[in-house]
Amino acid sequence: MNPAWPTDITDHRHSGVLEITWTDGKSSRLGHALLREQCRCAACEQQRRQGQGNPPASPGLRLETIEPVGEHGLNLGFSDGHDRGIYPWAYLRQLGTP
Ligand SMILES: [Zn+2]
Repeated sequence: MNPAWPTDITDHRHSGVLEITWTDGKSSRLGHALLREQCRCAACEQQRRQGQGNPPASPGLRLETIEPVGEHGLNLGFSDGHDRGIYPWAYLRQLGTP
């Protein structure tokens, strides 16, 4: 059984948390700001390489769109207009594991 596979995805918009439940029964609670800061799209990765660190999450930033990317993961769009990040399941699982 692949543990990095979601059985349920719930966006708690008011608290700014994306909750993913996995096939092994564990769940990950991912803050919208954290997800934005950990974006791995080409532009954000380039910023990191240039030493600018993680992209900043503006105050009150919220997740706006959640689109499945085949069986690979999720494409997340944020209220600051940034919607390029693809988040593979294994990466989401890793981010949600303290
Ligand atoms: Zn990005």
